[in-house]
Amino acid sequence: MDENLEMVIGLEIHAELQTEEKLFCSCSTKFGAKENSQICPICLGYPGALPKVNEDAIDLAIKAGSILNCIINNYSDFDRKSYFYRDLPKGFQITQMKNPICENGYLELDNGTVYINRIHIEEDAAKTIINSNENKVDFNRAGVPLIEIVTEPCIYSKELAKEFVENLILMFKYADICNGKLEEGSFRVDLNISLKEKNSKILGTRAEIKNLSSIKSLLKAIDAEVERQSQVLFLGESVIQETRGFNEKTGKTYSLRNKENALGYRYIKDYNLNPIILEEIYINKIKKEIPIMPKEKKNFYIEKYNINSKYADILINNKAVSIFFDDCLEKYANPKLISNVIINYLLKYVNNNIEKLEINIDDFINLIKLVENENIKKSDLSDILFYMYNEKISLDDIFKNNNYFISSNEDEIRQIVLSVLNENLNAKNQYSSGNNKIFGFFMGECNKKTNKKLNSKILKNILEEELKDNKGETII
Ligand SMILES: [Zn+2]
Repeated sequence: MDENLEMVIGLEIHAELQTEEKLFCSCSTKFGAKENSQICPICLGYPGALPKVNEDAIDLAIKAGSILNCIINNYSDFDRKSYFYRDLPKGFQITQMKNPICENGYLELDNGTVYINRIHIEEDAAKTIINSNENKVDFNRAGVPLIEIVTEPCIYSKELAKEFVENLILMFKYADICNGKLEEGSFRVDLNISLKEKNSKILGTRAEIKNLSSIKSLLKAIDAEVERQSQVLFLGESVIQETRGFNEKTGKTYSLRNKENALGYRYIKDYNLNPIILEEIYINKIKKEIPIMPKEKKNFYIEKYNINSKYADILINNKAVSIFFDDCLEKYANPKLISNVIINYLLKYVNNNIEKLEINIDDFINLIKLVENENIKKSDLSDILFYMYNEKISLDDIFKNNNYFISSNEDEIRQIVLSVLNENLNAKNQYSSGNNKIFGFFMGECNKKTNKKLNSKILKNILEEELKDNKGETII
């Protein structure tokens, strides 16, 4: 890119709200059901069917607005956005154009601040399925509640775009607003991007890129589009305002439709639906239901439990993991050791997308106590947790079938030490004449001598004692 130019990004994010029922009817919103099994005259757009707003969707929109520091409007209402396509049986989509529920927010992040223009509620369209064998429409998704979060064009780096999307997903998961699954389409990111001259306040013509299905694609699409627009400008041509797609295979964006076709939505007010009137007292009640957000939780972990920032990040970045960590601490207050075992041993088996960390918490706490008292070796934790988490075997059964306990019997350990020292007189002499490095060799030999696991602290003490007693003596 020309060094006098800079990119400006805005994001439009559609998040499916986690309500049980659709936005205007009582059909289920459950993902993955049999095609066209969750439908009724309202979400199929039959003439005369009367929609009624799902209040749960309003509450979730209030929460989203509140998290993003928006003004929650006391009055908002619905409009019809006309477009004719088979995934929208009414011939229009019910959305909020003129009076959205939330406006003027912001989110402060490490890489900068993202300003929110608006959040509005709207219904999802049906899903069109086209592949080599079939071409059909599944109306289960028609009428599922969405919020659209529209940022200002205020994002000047890929890092900030990424941080914003990641944080939004995590915060929405924490507040049970949206499950944030990009791969299932319940969280969809559209991007608008333009190039402008540095120091100029005038934005260039923007292109929109639709339906980015992962954060990786978002970042690649930004690169590809910046490259394309710089080329256009370099050749002295103008960027056209249009909607584009992103091809994962070629890594390039391509034109979908231009500005002319995008016009003509012919918004009109939907008088079938009452406006949403929210009193402050109600808004405040809903705001109080919002749980602690990841950033605050991270600070809490650092301040209250003295956990380092890197570990705190790992714990909060997965809601299920942080809930599990909290649950453990309620049963046993050793945050340092518990966080250490979760992060370094348990998490390697845990899929990032889990909704709940399925492990017997009492067994886990008992395991933590065994580690704390040095009854087992940390190096065996990976195996034990594999059986506990992946195989769902109880701690008792794991110990019945394996030899993980450490021997702390001093007499027994002393016998082993003495016999090792007697068998390695040369080494012992070397140690006596000042070669301290050989200490590790003795430790190793002692451990090899028995199929039991020796308590290393006790072993070390006894070995030191015995070597000291003999120091200076020459053994012939
Ligand atoms: Zn329905």
